[in-house]
Amino acid sequence: MKEILVWAELRDGRLTGVALEIMKKALDLATLSGGRVSAVAIGRECRESAAELVAHGAERVFVVEDARLDLYQADAFTKILCRLIGEIRPGIVLMGGTSVGADLAPAVAARLGTGLTAHCTDLRIEAIEGLDQLVMVVPGWRGNMMVKIVCPEKRPVMATIRPGVMERGRPEPSREGEIVAVSPDIDEKDFRARTLERVRESEESALEQAKIIVSGGFGFYEAGGVALLDQLARALGAVTAGSRPACDAGWVPESRMIGQSGRTVSPDLFISIGASGAPHYTTGFAKSKLIVAIDKNPKAPVFDIADFGVAGDLKEIIPALVEELEAKE
Ligand SMILES: Cc1cc2nc3c(=O)[nH]c(=O)nc-3n(C[C@H](O)[C@H](O)[C@H](O)COP(=O)(O)OP(=O)(O)OC[C@H]3O[C@@H](n4cnc5c(N)ncnc54)[C@H](O)[C@@H]3O)c2cc1C
Repeated sequence: MKEILVWAELRDGRLTGVALEIMKKALDLATLSGGRVSAVAIGRECRESAAELVAHGAERVFVVEDARLDLYQADAFTKILCRLIGEIRPGIVLMGGTSVGADLAPAVAARLGTGLTAHCTDLRIEAIEGLDQLVMVVPGWRGNMMVKIVCPEKRPVMATIRPGVMERGRPEPSREGEIVAVSPDIDEKDFRARTLERVRESEESALEQAKIIVSGGFGFYEAGGVALLDQLARALGAVTAGSRPACDAGWVPESRMIGQSGRTVSPDLFISIGASGAPHYTTGFAKSKLIVAIDKNPKAPVFDIADFGVAGDLKEIIPALVEELEAKE
């Protein structure tokens, strides 16, 4: 457990937010266990990011630079990481649970023959049967409880962490660390499938930048879909989103699914309507400044995280709200 290796994902040559969120958690774990944090950055040009990682607590940053690695390349990244992990022999490997991390982490874990816990919402070190173990916390059993997972036999223990669920640390420019240049040691056969370009969906940024989000759940079934949700969004100048069942029903695009398998948002106002409040869902908006929940079941768990709750039928509440809002215009 002494060495924690963080794969610091770059996008457009810059560190992703989740890389810095993981650095803070890795540093906290290392402080508790008396270990140290190393990071690895793979890309076209990583020196600036390496310095940033040192300021965020990395004692060593392994820099793997090659113009062909500007965009994520599955085989090449897997090969580089497996080789580095074999040489460094960390006890723990942490990666961002982004779309790239969700592709890369299982490939690395499978090749190393070790365990991987995906989409963790928390990580702790706990003594179990006299040995320090990394305890990885994920929402489980259909979201009804938080599950603690340990990997006592295989090393390294691997985990991915969802973007936005952990806090970012403050950089300390006075921190010192070693920057180690590593040869990529890759050839053409490591590019069987190539990423040629990355296209950002416009909806992605709309959700991230939205000040108000109204999110619908399976409770809209009785209403025959989310037309009422759209009406409320228009009246509030909000962006719509949804829970897993709302996306599965085709009412809200998959790219606007909130939760552990979807997006993490923190708008000024998040209104959840007709969604019971499973941790898989609430983890995606728990950090919103103000949370309002509307559900007909007064005992729905969503009310536990809401600042304001309205227990009632959305078919009555939404039209009343829209009428009130429109009257004020
Ligand atoms: C590994 C894994 C990952 C997952 N990831 C996600 C994820 O990222 N996002 C996600 O959302 N889910 C995710 N899930 C699913 C999650 O566990 C829940 O099953 C899901 O969030 C439930 O969605 P819901 O609240 O819309 O539906 P339900 O749980 O069916 O809740 C519907 C709610 O609507 C209310 N309702 C019904 N009619 C009305 C009415 N007329 N007016 C007002 N209220 C009404 C009901 O009281 C109920 O509370 C995941 C599950 C697993 C196993």
